[in-house]
Amino acid sequence: MSLERPVHDWCQSHPLIADLVALRPTSWFNPRCAPSAEALGDVPLTAQDVREASERLQRFAPFIQSAFSETTASAGIIESPLLPLPALQAVLRAEHQLPEAGALWLKADNLLPISGSIKARGGIYEVLKHAEDLALAGGLLQPGDDYAKLDSEAARAFFAQYSIAVGSTGNLGLSIGIMSARLGFKATVHMSADARQWKKDRLRAHGVEVREYSADYSVAVEQGRKEAEADPRCHFVDDENSRNLFLGYAVAAERLQRQMIEQGVAVDAEHPLFVYLPCGVGGGPGGVAFGLKLVFGDAVHCLFAEPTHSPCMFLGVYTGLHDEVSVYDVGIDNQTAADGLAVGRPSGFVGRAMQRLIDGYYTVDDATLYRLLAQMQACEGYELEPSALAGVPGMVQVLHETQGYRQRLGLDEARMQRATHLVWGTGGSMVPRAEMDAYLAKGRIVLAGQ
Ligand SMILES: *Cc1c(COP(=O)(O)O)cnc(C)c1O
Repeated sequence: MSLERPVHDWCQSHPLIADLVALRPTSWFNPRCAPSAEALGDVPLTAQDVREASERLQRFAPFIQSAFSETTASAGIIESPLLPLPALQAVLRAEHQLPEAGALWLKADNLLPISGSIKARGGIYEVLKHAEDLALAGGLLQPGDDYAKLDSEAARAFFAQYSIAVGSTGNLGLSIGIMSARLGFKATVHMSADARQWKKDRLRAHGVEVREYSADYSVAVEQGRKEAEADPRCHFVDDENSRNLFLGYAVAAERLQRQMIEQGVAVDAEHPLFVYLPCGVGGGPGGVAFGLKLVFGDAVHCLFAEPTHSPCMFLGVYTGLHDEVSVYDVGIDNQTAADGLAVGRPSGFVGRAMQRLIDGYYTVDDATLYRLLAQMQACEGYELEPSALAGVPGMVQVLHETQGYRQRLGLDEARMQRATHLVWGTGGSMVPRAEMDAYLAKGRIVLAGQ
């Protein structure tokens, strides 16, 4: 499907489309955003669903601890640290003449164990859920068992009868592939042209079958879906529509709440929390935002960040066309260095369910992502992949907005003074040294050029 009216018609009724088409960094604060008590009703999932996902991850912790030695310290719980960014905040303040207000933090999902990106939440959760369903039905597991027994030859022989497939720009494939293969499943990852070579190499080293496509993410997903449909023993992980992926991401919120309490960071109506989430197809940021709204209600404000060349969720929600429009339909090419965000058509499920819960959307150009990548490393010593920097300019967007957004929500100066700005750092620790050095070199060149 595509736009039924010509693009210039759409630009008349939706003037920001012209900015998106011109690839200008753009922001939009959604005036239809609603109180969470009301808008959470749009989501066909509940707090109980998230609680069950959290309990399932607890049940699997003994298996994960046994199978992945890097999770020993956390006893098999896959979680990332919450880190302050004082030096980067000072640099952003000086560059953008920001008021001395609020504090900037990083949710360092780049450091998540096993696959080094936010996909270690949703992707791994979905594999575990499927494994549990099969193991309970097949008599391999009984309720109340110690799941460490799943790290055994018997369990791997059981799961080897089944396969798991997924289409991915890279990180989802890594998460699904590594966990599937470790449990014993046959795993196939359909990789889009944007996927980095090292991600394919790493998956093959884990015994995962990697199919490569010269086309974008949507094509890789469609091919994967088709092949999986022909095989009743194959589970296809549907990144665009999966409720389980979404729930795996949502568990992040209760974990973040605990970390905020530990760090003495208040979140309530007087201490607003702004969270800036890089968005590809939308499942990751959508699931996290859903969890955050359940935990923090109207005290949390979520913004989605996309590359100027791939603003699929922005376009879908702004026009109300959701997955019926792709960036190609308006002449945008979906070519970006932010490979984790190189998605042309958003999840219709996430766009529709979350449209009254997400405060705003903005785009970032690739040069800025590289520049921030170098600044993050210079200021704080953290190394993130390009996609994972998209959240950093969010604070500037909020503090500089002139669309009546803060006024509408009563986010006055006193509240902004006490605000917490949280950048979701979605990936990077698995990037090979040489590749990271090349990213840093590019970032330094952009920095030097201004
Ligand atoms: C996948 C990914 C995202 C966005 O998640 P979606 O579910 O595709 O919206 C953001 N950053 C990185 C590094 C990713 O790999």
